[in-house]
Amino acid sequence: MPENKTLVMKFGGTSVGSADALLKATQIVKDARAEYPRVVVITSAMSGVTNLLLDAAAQASQGKVDSLPATESTLREKHFAAADALIQDETLRETTKQEINTLILSLVDLCKAIAILGEASPRTMDAVASIGERMCVRLLGAVLESGGVSAKAIESTEFVITNAHFQHAHPDFKVTTEKTRAVLNPLMDAGIVPVTTGFIGATPEGAITTLGRGGSDYSAAIIGSVLPADDVWIWTDVDGVMTTDPRIVKEARTLPEITYSEIAELAYYGAKVIHPKTIRPVVDAGIGLRICNTFNPSHPGTRLIANVPSDLHPRNGQVVKAVTAIRNQRLVTIEGRGMLGVPGVAARAFGAVASTKTSVPLITQASSEQSICFAVPSEAAESVINALQAVFASEIEDEDIDRVWMTEDVSIITVVGVGMRHTPGVAGQVFSHLGDSKANVLAIAQGSSEVSISMVVVAADTELAVNALHEMIVK
Ligand code: ASP
Ligand code: MG
Repeated sequence: MPENKTLVMKFGGTSVGSADALLKATQIVKDARAEYPRVVVITSAMSGVTNLLLDAAAQASQGKVDSLPATESTLREKHFAAADALIQDETLRETTKQEINTLILSLVDLCKAIAILGEASPRTMDAVASIGERMCVRLLGAVLESGGVSAKAIESTEFVITNAHFQHAHPDFKVTTEKTRAVLNPLMDAGIVPVTTGFIGATPEGAITTLGRGGSDYSAAIIGSVLPADDVWIWTDVDGVMTTDPRIVKEARTLPEITYSEIAELAYYGAKVIHPKTIRPVVDAGIGLRICNTFNPSHPGTRLIANVPSDLHPRNGQVVKAVTAIRNQRLVTIEGRGMLGVPGVAARAFGAVASTKTSVPLITQASSEQSICFAVPSEAAESVINALQAVFASEIEDEDIDRVWMTEDVSIITVVGVGMRHTPGVAGQVFSHLGDSKANVLAIAQGSSEVSISMVVVAADTELAVNALHEMIVK
């Protein structure tokens, strides 16, 4: 074990969302320091804060600033209550509150400017969204200090350098590596825990950017990979990755391990575990990643493991590892005998879908080529149908396309497991379990990675299908 072992820990919104949570986070940092001489802490905004900020900006862009005072006081109460409860030293407490207040006032200024302009550019939205993490980093830094951890709050805008794709910025890994090491290493060398903002970075010119909603997991992976750290721990409010949603199946349990491709599939199919972009930097750098629960810290959580050749022999014969459901989807079908063998129909169809800025989680096409069927989120379905009718207007008139239609609400149920790739008959088992459950299956798709099989069921059968498929997971 190298003497200078480094650990990067990221606390999600609920893990810093109240005085009680912050106290638990403080203890977690202390315990980690006993094991790791070098610790970097990354924080999200307190839970609910990013939404509050973005709502305020959205209102302002319609000229509405009436609710600004209420937003201001909610933000003040939330941060100040925690500061009052946890920061004993009066000077530290007052300066922390003052810094937070300055950020709140900058939100008010930004919103007023937005209201005058009547619009908020992506760049402005990032400036607004960044305020949550920038408030929280000051609070957490001071709370740690009060808890006896020598800590320093710094904004990641100083060292996470990104392009100017506001709201979805991409880091420049080369510059970020140099800067992160230059800023964080001297602090850690001096025995200080750097506490920094997740979610945000800055362009080389210094404009604040964000990495996309939920992006502070990605920040942890970026910072962990460029240092590089030995391990990255993501602290959240559940015991790691579960076999399924415990609200649907009471036997759901935590998976001790999950492979990179399984977690990518789960993230894609709606399991809110970690931000999908988190995976790549840690895989590329060969760094460990653990997902664990601030409110149950002695639980080992879930470890991400490489896609080892043991894929060939799934542990304990466990082929299916997890089941997920994405609700509120519609199946859209384009149907017509005139589509047979006509090139370009799919391209035009998905071009039309893309023009509505809708992403498609599942596609199936029968080999007869007489229909293309895909899922879209319910709220986007109508605009998708309109776009398809417009792009195929002449085919519809000529009756080459008979109709473009959509179902009522459906759910996409996905079973995930790398072992499926080498185990014949899994699909058969999946369908016989589903058949026994009497859930009505409308469409099926298997990813070419063979790590998952997805089925579309009517909304009312969601629980039935998930429960039936969860029985396949070896207890
Ligand atoms: N606070 C940001 C968000 O709510 C980033 C994060 O929490 O990961 O999207
Ligand atoms: Mg999150």
